[in-house]
Amino acid sequence: MDLDPAKRTPHALSLLPFAGAAALAWGAVIVGSSIDWTLYALAVALLALAGGLAAVRSRTRWSARYGGTLSSLVFLAAVAILRSSAGGINSGAAVVSLIPVFYTALYSQRRHELYVVLAGVTVFYLAPIILVGPPDYPHSQYRAAALTVAVSAIIGLATQRLVADVRDQAGEALSRERMLGRVNQVVHELINSSQARLDVCEAARSIGEATIAILYEPVPTTSTMRSTAIAGADADPIEISLLVPSAMGECVASRSAIVVSEDVEGELGGHELWEASGRPDSLLYEPLLRGSEPVGVLVVGWKDGVRVDGPRATVVALLAHEAAAMIARADTVSELTDMASSDPLTGLPNRRAWDARVYHALNAGQQFTIAMLDFDLFKEFNDTYGHPAGDRLLKETAALWRDQLRTGDLLARLGGEEFGLLLLDCSTDRATDVIERLRKLVYGNRTCSAGFAARRPGESAEAVIARADTALYEAKASGRDRVCMSA
Ligand code: GH3
Ligand code: MG
Ligand code: MG
Repeated sequence: MDLDPAKRTPHALSLLPFAGAAALAWGAVIVGSSIDWTLYALAVALLALAGGLAAVRSRTRWSARYGGTLSSLVFLAAVAILRSSAGGINSGAAVVSLIPVFYTALYSQRRHELYVVLAGVTVFYLAPIILVGPPDYPHSQYRAAALTVAVSAIIGLATQRLVADVRDQAGEALSRERMLGRVNQVVHELINSSQARLDVCEAARSIGEATIAILYEPVPTTSTMRSTAIAGADADPIEISLLVPSAMGECVASRSAIVVSEDVEGELGGHELWEASGRPDSLLYEPLLRGSEPVGVLVVGWKDGVRVDGPRATVVALLAHEAAAMIARADTVSELTDMASSDPLTGLPNRRAWDARVYHALNAGQQFTIAMLDFDLFKEFNDTYGHPAGDRLLKETAALWRDQLRTGDLLARLGGEEFGLLLLDCSTDRATDVIERLRKLVYGNRTCSAGFAARRPGESAEAVIARADTALYEAKASGRDRVCMSA
């Protein structure tokens, strides 16, 4: 059975009330009238034909198209003959002509079918007055005929409109329900996904029947939004400044959904991307909110328009909500990871992160050099200037040192005033150069000593670190403020 109400055809049972009304009319005219039984029998035959046509409608393509209208017209003819069989206008049978108007208005969405039936009703009332005339059809009945036709038209058109609205609403509710079912499924899958951002975009695109879906997130410390996932187009990350007026800016500022249907190309970021996104003609900007803070915007484009209160927008709103929760989860995980692997005073990686990176380099078979750096006479400094001044020295020096390194190099605070430096694929000359530079960069005219060792083929991480430590000890023993290389 097709659940879609818009596609459902009238069930044969729907004919019953109309059949009942017809039976009543056919019975009622007999009472108190003199009947022309030949005409009456003809009317019954036509009624049966009309009923038959209505019952088989939708069995074949032809009858689906014309069966209903034909049945209505045959029915009107049957009522006309019934009326004549019982003495014309005074028989009381005429009011039954409303039946085909109602039937058509209820079960056909085609406006022209209703017009044909209304034309039939007009003929039903006017033709006998013109063709037969008094006494059965007096000319004084023109006015009543015109009024009845007008009322039939109003009732018919209003009913058809109402039925169309109800069908639309039912169809929309059904599509909303189906989409929600799919959103629910996607949300469950998101939890275990390694690419949740892209999954959110893919879901918005496929469930929301869109051509493109882009997730934007704020670039920290700037007024820029950058795309972090795109479904529906192959494009490099897109940046949109919030300082220039745009739908994106409006969405972020108002924290509410915005529909754009003008200058879609410009809002999307140019002709090329617009082409690649399937040439959408409307865009929906849905904010991702954490509390009332916007943490992103989901932009979805359609080729055939969208309504903010339609089922597609509901899907996008739900997915945006889910994306906000997903980003919050990801941020929490990365914050916890950062906390577990960094030193709170200097912000440098801690010993845990250091160990992991050293072993990673070892397992990857990389050549590396390890240096140990240690502040000179730091206890004395603390004793003289106080612990907070010592902390400041550690912090400022760490910041100075960090600026000197290449990406891939690792500087970590290993504990107290001791730092480790891991240099990947580094020649002895460059290592000497880098470490010397750091030695000279201690904050506040203090000094430090360093020892370093380059890993020998097959050597364990512990052995390299031990040789670097020995070299540091030599630097201290030979007068501090110097760098020693392990032999
Ligand atoms: P050396 O030149 O031989 O390395 O002498 P040193 O005084 O630097 O070495 P020692 O190991 O005797 O003392 C290290 C001092 O570092 C002791 C401790 O008070 C200080 N220290 C360790 N961690 C911190 C810290 O987090 N903050 C401060 N302010 N001082 C710290
Ligand atoms: Mg020291
Ligand atoms: Mg020390």
